Amino acid sequence: MTPAPSTNDIRDLSLTELQEYMATIGEKSYRARQVAEWIYHKGAQSFADMGNISKPLRERLEKDFALHPHKQIRKEVSADGTTKFLFALHDDEKVETVLIPTKTRTTACISTQAGCKFGCRFCASGIGGWNRNLSCGEIITQVLQVKEEAKSHPRPLSHIVFMGIGEPLDNYENLMKAIRLINDPVGVNIGARRITVSTCGVIPRILEMGREGIQIELAISLHGYDNESRNVLMPVNKKYPFNDLIEACRTYQKSYRRQITFEYILIKDVTCTEQAAQALKKAFHGLICKLNLIPYNPVSEFDHQTPARDEMLRFRDRLTEFGVHATIRTPRGKDINSACGQLRHS
Ligand code: SAH
Repeated sequence: MTPAPSTNDIRDLSLTELQEYMATIGEKSYRARQVAEWIYHKGAQSFADMGNISKPLRERLEKDFALHPHKQIRKEVSADGTTKFLFALHDDEKVETVLIPTKTRTTACISTQAGCKFGCRFCASGIGGWNRNLSCGEIITQVLQVKEEAKSHPRPLSHIVFMGIGEPLDNYENLMKAIRLINDPVGVNIGARRITVSTCGVIPRILEMGREGIQIELAISLHGYDNESRNVLMPVNKKYPFNDLIEACRTYQKSYRRQITFEYILIKDVTCTEQAAQALKKAFHGLICKLNLIPYNPVSEFDHQTPARDEMLRFRDRLTEFGVHATIRTPRGKDINSACGQLRHS
């Protein structure tokens, strides 16, 4: 693995680490809280902005840490209001971050890696391969930047989905550290149930996440309806096969009493068939879950087709008849290539 070149970003510190730091420089621990509030609540972009912090402490922080925003390379706004940012990280790696406003919520879609190792055969994010993990600071800085942008929308930032570039559970430590900062009332203060982690199915980490004692939402990118169909679409299925994944979801559900969301791509003649509906009915037997049907968003490197609207509706109705709770997800920001699976690592 190529490690992220080290920076001294203050947002790489957990709140406990920030308190420990204050102790080591002889400051009272409430200073950590004040500094965190400046960064995570008030969106301070420099230590000089921190009005109630003494000048000597500000200078000390300046010497010990960095607090820069990601460099914004591009910002595109879709006809539906979805806004996609291309950010350059300090070593010039690039990631995309998306802000999705709807009538009831404002969601940030966050990237966790520069590129992706998993190579799903319908997704743009893995085409250029994987370069490195993002640090906790790099993850949370995306959140802070779109939180600022959300101020120009009717609703403030309310939800976070880890559905940008990369596989969140392949960058587990940094992801969890960032999630705790997002969730903490002294941090960004977004409720755990409003934070969703989406995974291609890294089983050991799914189970580990269940044991973290934080009620975040889990979404599983299933996309195949049985072992064979999933093998064709998602190479990760060779390592973590369909049946084991469903079994892990059963354990997760029983142990942690959490509903699971499955994401399921609708590709004409491939995943949207009677055979698929029958197989899903069998797989989900006894599992409390909901199925998000995602119409395939075109990616030029693949020659899949999106099913016609009535085919998708028929498939959904068939699942409903089988007692599977399924809804079709409306693609957002398709005109600026910011819909599911269209984010690229450039
Ligand atoms: N690596 C994680 C996070 C990415 S989330 C995961 O796999 O869950 C992005 C979601 O969009 C995933 O469910 C992904 O499978 C889906 N997706 C990828 N390519 C797509 C495409 N071309 N059309 C529709 N959905 C796609």
